[in-house]
Amino acid sequence: SSASHQVREELARQVQLKKVLARVIKTGCFGFCKMGPLVVIYPGQTLYCLVKKEDVAEIVEKHLLEGQVVERLLYEEPASGERKRRLSDIQFFRAQYRVALRNCGLINPEDITEYIACEGYFALADVLLNWTPAQVVDAIKQSGLRGRGGAGFSTGRKWELAAAAQGPEKYVVCNADEGDPGAFMDRSILEGDPHSVLEAMAIAGYAIGAREGYIYVRAEYPIAVDRLERAIDQARQYGLLGRRILNTNFSFDIDLRLGAGAFVCGEETALLRSAVGERGEPRPRPPYPAQCGLWGKPTLLNNVETYANVPVIIREGPAWFASLGTENSRGTKVFSLAGKVLNTGLIEVPMGTTLRTVVFDIGGGIPGGRQFKAVQTGGPSGGCIPERHLDTPIDYESLKQLGSMMGSGGMIVLDETDCIVDIAKFYLQFSQDESCGQCTPCRVGTKRMLEILERITQGQGQMEDLNELEELSREVMDASLCGLGQTAPNPVLSTLKYFRDEYEAHIRDKR
Ligand code: SF4
Repeated sequence: SSASHQVREELARQVQLKKVLARVIKTGCFGFCKMGPLVVIYPGQTLYCLVKKEDVAEIVEKHLLEGQVVERLLYEEPASGERKRRLSDIQFFRAQYRVALRNCGLINPEDITEYIACEGYFALADVLLNWTPAQVVDAIKQSGLRGRGGAGFSTGRKWELAAAAQGPEKYVVCNADEGDPGAFMDRSILEGDPHSVLEAMAIAGYAIGAREGYIYVRAEYPIAVDRLERAIDQARQYGLLGRRILNTNFSFDIDLRLGAGAFVCGEETALLRSAVGERGEPRPRPPYPAQCGLWGKPTLLNNVETYANVPVIIREGPAWFASLGTENSRGTKVFSLAGKVLNTGLIEVPMGTTLRTVVFDIGGGIPGGRQFKAVQTGGPSGGCIPERHLDTPIDYESLKQLGSMMGSGGMIVLDETDCIVDIAKFYLQFSQDESCGQCTPCRVGTKRMLEILERITQGQGQMEDLNELEELSREVMDASLCGLGQTAPNPVLSTLKYFRDEYEAHIRDKR
């Protein structure tokens, strides 16, 4: 919708027409969505924002032929009004630290040689030639990496369990069924750097003793699917997937499974069922996928962002990764920053960065001089965090303590004009729609809660409704089978905790 392909085509045309010695390279997303389409010119790292097809001739004439900067297309910092030329001078990028997103926006994701030029597949080669599988598992454990898909389980522990599971056949699976409203972290990694995920899955295969991997990706991500298919083909041509990788005795190949967009298929047991053609419904655990996963065989399942960290952990060492972040939440986290914030986009920060830094330094604050109200983290499983907790460092435990969640990384900023009861209703409606319906507390409990919220927002609520909402929340959380139901009441509970006065105002003023 930003017509960036038109800009690229015009750029390629102008460069050829004017016989400029320059290559036009298509990349994945830089993350600076609000300012797209972006054009970065190397050397010099000059960033041009909101570029239109009509601007291209000027960029080519003035910048590429005359060596001058097109000032009007440079980014203007909202706080100081200063025009910033280089990517690395812009506050949006300066406050970030990119590990999982390291290549996104910098390389052509459709060209394996660009990934290799950024030390891609070096970790796989090193592991296959110099490491034992146990050493790989140990490195992931030492790094302190935790699952980036939501629950935050230790990745090293998962790998250890899958490696210890007995059986001649095991599988490595990537969960790319990102479904939270407003979340596009995994999509951007797959579109911008698909080889990082393939490399990590091959490393995981070596570590646990698997020869096959599957990426379960939603069909609504056609660019991600296309780039994954190209990346798999190229990796096979380069001897980095398939039989006898790099002339070793290790063979590993990857295939795709397309999901049809059911949110519940992001839950690991539902995903594994759906991947083999069964109805995508969660099942009780244990047994866990490490013992009984795809076709009943031991299976290692991680999400896209978790895998994207793996090659760097191997290359830079687990101690380096563990030096980032907080004591219990190591490394960095990718967030899709959306809502009432100036710089919407995709960002990556070290764990422990405060919510205030994300919203006001990277995000640039609230547009139009309006007041911040809350930041919603964790999507339909998370909650709304008010202003007084903005200095909370972001990590798994601190967000949970506030009644929210890290989730997969959705972060939506709300301002004073947003109705908090509407927000809670929106997320509950989402969970209600996406409930697979197999257990009553989730199917019926969320429906009853939604009816109460509807009454309240139509000016027909009673004060007792608030207690009933809390009681129903507890029952839904305690008696639901899977994470969808167990966390569905979080948006309601967190808003009742921090913004009860807004619920009461709806009831009192009958609006
Ligand atoms: Fe299905 Fe909800 Fe039960 Fe999960 S909690 S299994 S989504 S009905």
